[in-house]
Amino acid sequence: MFDLTSLVRPNIRAMKPYSSARDEFQGEAHVMLDANENSLGSAGPERFNRYPDPLQRAVKTELAKLKGVAENQIFLGNGSDEAIDLLVRLVCIPDQDSIVILPPTYGMYEVAANLNDVRIERQPLTPDFQISPEAITQIVASDAKIVFLCSPNNPTGNLLHADAIEQVLRGFRGLVVVDEAYADFAAAPSWTTRLAEFPNLVVMQTFSKAWGLAGLRLGMAFASSEVISYLNKIKPPYNISEATQQHALAALQDAPRFEQMRQQLLIGRDWLAERLPGLSIVEEVFPSDANFLLTRFRPDATAVYDYLVGRGIIVRNRTTQPGCVGTLRLTVGSPTENKELLQALQEFKEA
Ligand SMILES: *Cc1c(COP(=O)(O)O)cnc(C)c1O
Repeated sequence: MFDLTSLVRPNIRAMKPYSSARDEFQGEAHVMLDANENSLGSAGPERFNRYPDPLQRAVKTELAKLKGVAENQIFLGNGSDEAIDLLVRLVCIPDQDSIVILPPTYGMYEVAANLNDVRIERQPLTPDFQISPEAITQIVASDAKIVFLCSPNNPTGNLLHADAIEQVLRGFRGLVVVDEAYADFAAAPSWTTRLAEFPNLVVMQTFSKAWGLAGLRLGMAFASSEVISYLNKIKPPYNISEATQQHALAALQDAPRFEQMRQQLLIGRDWLAERLPGLSIVEEVFPSDANFLLTRFRPDATAVYDYLVGRGIIVRNRTTQPGCVGTLRLTVGSPTENKELLQALQEFKEA
């Protein structure tokens, strides 16, 4: 029922990928004159005169151990955004094919579709931000090439129910992308543990959130080795810089710091979630498995937003998103920032 070969665009099946110097010779030799690099060195304080490993093997070796997947089940992108774009381009023929999104959700799926002239089918989440039975029926019946499921979902913070995701995985004929950018904050196993069961499953994670490396631009996609091979075929040859690869390796060696920050952010989330509902202007704090709290304010969320900006505190106004009227998305910050945010909100009346 799921057939990757027929899903991949014919031009991509047929094309020959770019063969870089580092594809054609791997290893070390004492004279490297094949890539038009500068053998003298680099301007600036550090040496980056050699092209990086196109397949980021050292990083993938460490990630494979950490995530319990095979190295050939990992794709690394210049942020998750690159993986989203490549997935759309892999299977969607412009001006013909479509993807499914479930609003309110992360904006980049729509941007990638628009950029590639791909139609969007919308199956709105329920008022408590879950996939409805009707949506499952529609998705399973759809000829769309990809469905993007964000779990925990941005901007709502909740996990999508596993049984609903499983029904989509079993019934949908295209790729099912589960975006787990916030998985490290969630009380649920990653869908990477189910890759062997579902050849149409792609799981995305990122170094931008719990690892604290948004500035590095490094996103991960986990899927069957067949899907990963296709992504490698169409990616820019040197999409992950040497600086990024070195830094990612150093981060992966620093697991205790990752864990300590993760715990502190979870404590901060609980701290805010406990106190925000006590404020008269807060109508609802939505349950969160992420590092933010979608919060509904009364009577006027945008007035609260503008007031916070005036106090030098920037949150995300989500009030125009489907199902999110009256809401602001509050990222969990440092303990001091969380206190300052709460203090400011307590003083809103006097503003
Ligand atoms: C933050 C976020 C990402 C991360 O994107 P990067 O390009 O890796 O920084 C991906 N998906 C969702 C839903 C996010 O909120």
